[in-house]
This record gives sequence, structure tokens and C-alpha cells, in this order.
Amino acid sequence: MHTTIKSILFGAISLSAILQLSSCKMNSNADEKVNTDEVVSVLATDAHSYSNPNDLRVKHIHLDLAVSFDSRTLSGSARLDLNRLSESNILKLDARQLTIDSILLDNGVKAKYKLGEDVEYFGQELSVDLLDETESVTIFYTTSPESEALQWLNPTQTAGGKHPYLFSQSQAILARTWVPCQDSPGVKFTYSATIRTSPELIALMSAENSYERSTDGIYEFQMKQPISSYLLALTVGDLEYRKLGRNCGVFAEPPMIEKCVWEFADMQAMIDSAEQLYGPYAWDQYDVVVLPPSFPFGGMENPRLTFATPTIVAGDRSLVALIAHELAHSWSGNLVTNETWNDFWLNEGFTVYFEQRIMEKVYGKAYEEMLTELGMGDLKHTIARLTESGDVDDTHLYLDLDGRNPDDGLTDVAYEKGRFFLQTIEKAVGRVQFDAFLKHYFADNAFKPMNTQRFEAYLDEHLLKGDSALYEKILPKAWIYGPGLPSTAPNPSSKELVRVNDQVELFLNGASAEQLDIKDWTTHHWLYFLRKFDGKLDVEKAAALDNAFGFTNSGNNEILCDWFKHCIELGYEPARPAIEQFLTTVGRRKFLSPLYERMATTEEGKAWGREIFAKAKPGYHAVSSNSIEDILQ
Ligand SMILES: [Zn+2]
Repeated sequence: MHTTIKSILFGAISLSAILQLSSCKMNSNADEKVNTDEVVSVLATDAHSYSNPNDLRVKHIHLDLAVSFDSRTLSGSARLDLNRLSESNILKLDARQLTIDSILLDNGVKAKYKLGEDVEYFGQELSVDLLDETESVTIFYTTSPESEALQWLNPTQTAGGKHPYLFSQSQAILARTWVPCQDSPGVKFTYSATIRTSPELIALMSAENSYERSTDGIYEFQMKQPISSYLLALTVGDLEYRKLGRNCGVFAEPPMIEKCVWEFADMQAMIDSAEQLYGPYAWDQYDVVVLPPSFPFGGMENPRLTFATPTIVAGDRSLVALIAHELAHSWSGNLVTNETWNDFWLNEGFTVYFEQRIMEKVYGKAYEEMLTELGMGDLKHTIARLTESGDVDDTHLYLDLDGRNPDDGLTDVAYEKGRFFLQTIEKAVGRVQFDAFLKHYFADNAFKPMNTQRFEAYLDEHLLKGDSALYEKILPKAWIYGPGLPSTAPNPSSKELVRVNDQVELFLNGASAEQLDIKDWTTHHWLYFLRKFDGKLDVEKAAALDNAFGFTNSGNNEILCDWFKHCIELGYEPARPAIEQFLTTVGRRKFLSPLYERMATTEEGKAWGREIFAKAKPGYHAVSSNSIEDILQ
């Protein structure tokens, strides 16, 4: 790890506020010594955590948990090893929906502890009284069947249909619903775990995984690189593994595994491209586990093991940009991490930019241009929506999420506006310079939190160097602290999509659907095609398009979602059963929210939405069902 003290001194942090700790510790259960010579910096206040990491900081967690599908709980213990950074003898942790049985100090003495008031979204402060010599605490606890991070599926909700399934989703502040911890992204720790489950199932974590099924259902895990709590992850199910390259592969349920192997054939090429761009992959192995359809996100960048929705397995490799995105997080996010959720754009904006560069390298410029123009379309749409609803502050890159569920404030803005900000810098300084800067940024800040103010200082120190002409070309403050898109924003355009636009115009001017030239169109041509009809279709035109192109019966979830938006708005009856089928089988929030939102614009639609939601809810993860409940209120 090549880190200079200088690199974390910029910005708001003063020298006196830096606590230097130099230590070399044995990772418990690890056979290898991990060098943790480090400089521990004072973390910014995190409004979404009760913890006190500037007094006591968790440096390692060991979990020992039994998985019970019958009671839908995890139970056992979490041992937290501590760095003591002050004289304080009170350890404050985040806990939510947990039943604490007891807490022991390292010498086996029972600790006094207190659970605070339960606050919506945030849960409870768990404060533990320590002794002067305490170096670790072990918390014995059980999760609730309602734990918001954990989704417990019946066999009927899986592809195989025979075994139950469990997966976790800890981002943004849900880790505290299954592990009592300092649930703040600035806190980085290593972890190890013993997970006990049925021998018929395999357990996987965001850690070194076993590729063999254990005979007794007991799995041991090691995570030697430090991670943030939102990257703690567990999944248990009937899973198979296939190697896809030197250091990558895929886990999926047996009925899905062959499809996944075909879909993700380019994974090694993506890893190689990413390393060429921004330096060595820091996590050794990169695997993907394809989850059941109720997974609420497209993917989650759990280190060493991306969790992915099966909705990207389209049968034509057209939606694998998501893998490029999650892989890119191995640098932006997992290595250099947003210090608080207000800095979320540092995770996502960098990742979308990086994803775009991987896609360009692997699939070519024309393809990348299509994705970029579609991204700008999404962003403009989001900015308009947030501005109209009076939430214009949520169009800033740097957010103010204090007092809110961070999940509510995390929109397209962090992703797409963040990407276009970086693209603007690239254009102003030139690609060669910008790439060198990013490579340096990732190496310099590896395994450390980053916040917006320190990033601005870093950008100035290493790239812009006070050059006012460059500042004028970029306007960084306007991007970070201003609404919408600054005047320096790029205007992406794709030749491929111009082709699509021509066909949309032809159709709107009276050509029949059959006359349109759709040769060699990919998923992204079709998505743009459907979006260009916003507000321009009637039932008759929709029926003509559906008859010609079979949208209602598409096997591609991205296309289905865009098509169903039109169908709901128009009241296009023939799609009704397919919409119901889609909403009761897919749990990815990105697809669910826009469809329920369109239903909620009329009383009749809202009633229909409520009826579907009642049936679908048991299959949704809490992340999705919370959002849908808000929409249908
Ligand atoms: Zn992401």
C-alpha cells in the first residue's frame, strides 16, 4: 500500500486532528500476517450512524452465525476488535431489529450495555461500557424475521423450486439489521466468519469463498482487505459455480448456471480492461452470484462477490454493462469509499464513468456512445422530476441527507451527473492526463474514505493546480453544489441513436411499423426507440408497434419496463396480464417504481397497483416494498 500522509491532509482535516496508529496485527483465524501500518484519520460526522469511531474504531469483526430458515433468523455472535483512539470507555454501535442476549468483554466479563430509543430507519444506539484494558467485545444476538437487510425466500420463489434461499442487502444503512456494528461507510475493518447452515446449501459472503460444498453445512470465511459495513454480505442457497477466467467466475442456481456462463463470457476481458485503465485489481478474486428475481437492485458491488439480478441475463449479452459497473466499484467505492452518504456521488459518479470506459474498451465507441446518450436522457428526466417536486437540492452532487433515510436521496443524479462531471474534466484536461490522475487517485487513497471537500482539494492539487482557465471550462463548484446541469455539461450524441430517431419520426409521420428499418438493433436501440415515444402514442399506435415487434412478450426486462410505462399511461388493455405477471415476479426497484408511479396517477390505477402489490409484496425485498408503499400511499 503506497500511501503518503500528505494525501489525507488536504481539505478540512488539520494535522492535529490526525491520529497516527502504527500496528502490525494478526488477523484472527488468518494464517497470513496483514500489515496494517496505517494512519487513522478523524472521520467526518455521519448523520446516519450512532457510532463513535473517532473514539473507538472497529478494526476486525468475527461473526459466528447459524442460519435458520424455519425461524427466518440468524443467531450467534459478533466479536468486534477495537482500535482505541481516545480515553473513552463507551463504545457506541448501530443496531436495528436485533435481540441482544448478552455482551462479553474480551476477558469474559459480562458488559453493561444500553439500547437507546428506536428511531425509524436509524434503529437504536447500542452503547457498551468498556474497561480501560478492553480490546474486543462479543455480542450474542438474534436477528428479526423482519430484518430489512435479509430476504428469506421460499423454495417456490427460486429458480430451482426445491430449496429455500437467503440473501442480504446492507447498503445503505441496513447492515445494522443483521450485524451490530459501526454502520458508517467511513469505518473500514477486516472480517472473518463461521456460518452454519444446512448441508444441502452453500453459503457465500463478500469474502474468500469456498468452491466446494461442505459436508456439515459449516463455512469459514476470511476478508483480509478492509471494507465498510455496507459491503458485509451473505447469501445461502442451492448454488453452483463455474470458473470463467483466471480470477473470475459465476455462482447461480443449477437451472440458471449455463445461461449465466454464456451471458458473462466477457468477464475476464472486463477485468483486464479495468486493470489497464486504473491499476491492479485489489481484491484477488472477482465472482458474481446471480440471485433470484426479488433482489431489489441491479447489482451490489459486494467485494470479491458481486450480487446480481437475474434480469440482466437477457440471452444476448446486451445488459452486461451492469457487470462492468459492479466491477468498477472494486476501485471506486470499495477501495476509495464515500465517507458519508452525502458523498455518495464519489462512489457512483466515478463508477459510471469507469463503467463507460470499460464498455468502450470491450465493446467499442459506438456502443459506449449509445449508453452515454441514454444516460443523459435519464439524468435530464430525473432533474426535471426532482425540480418539479420541489426537491431541487437533491440535484446537487453533494447531498444533504441529514435526518432522512439515505436510501430516499440516492437518485440518478449521483450516478449520471457524477459521470458527466468527470467527463467534463476529462474533456478539459485531455484523456491521457485524466487517466493518469485517476490511477494516482485510486492508488493514493486505497482502502480509505474520501469526502467531497477532500476530493476538491485533491483535484486542485494534482490536476487543476489553480489554473483559472481550466476551472472556467469545468466549473466544479457548479457541478458539486449547484442544481441541475451546469453550462459546461457535455451534449452526448450517438450516430446509432440518430438512426433510431429517424425511424421514430417516420412512424409518427404515418409509416407502418413493418416499414421501419430495424436491422441490427440491440436492446439499447430499442430502449431509445421506446423512450422517444413519450407522450406521443395512442392506443392504436401502441397496438401497431406491439403487433410488429412483440413488446408485450419480450424476454428482456429493460424493454418490458419501458414498454409497460406506455401501456399503463395509455390504458393499453392487452398488456394488462403481462404487467401483473412482471410486477409479481421481478423485485428490482428500478423497474417497479416507475410502473407503480404511473399507476398511482389515477384513482383507478392506484387501486389496481394496490391489488398487485398485495400479491407481490411477500416476494419483494424491504428496499423495494418500502418505496412502493410510499408511492401507493
Ligand atoms: Zn453502483
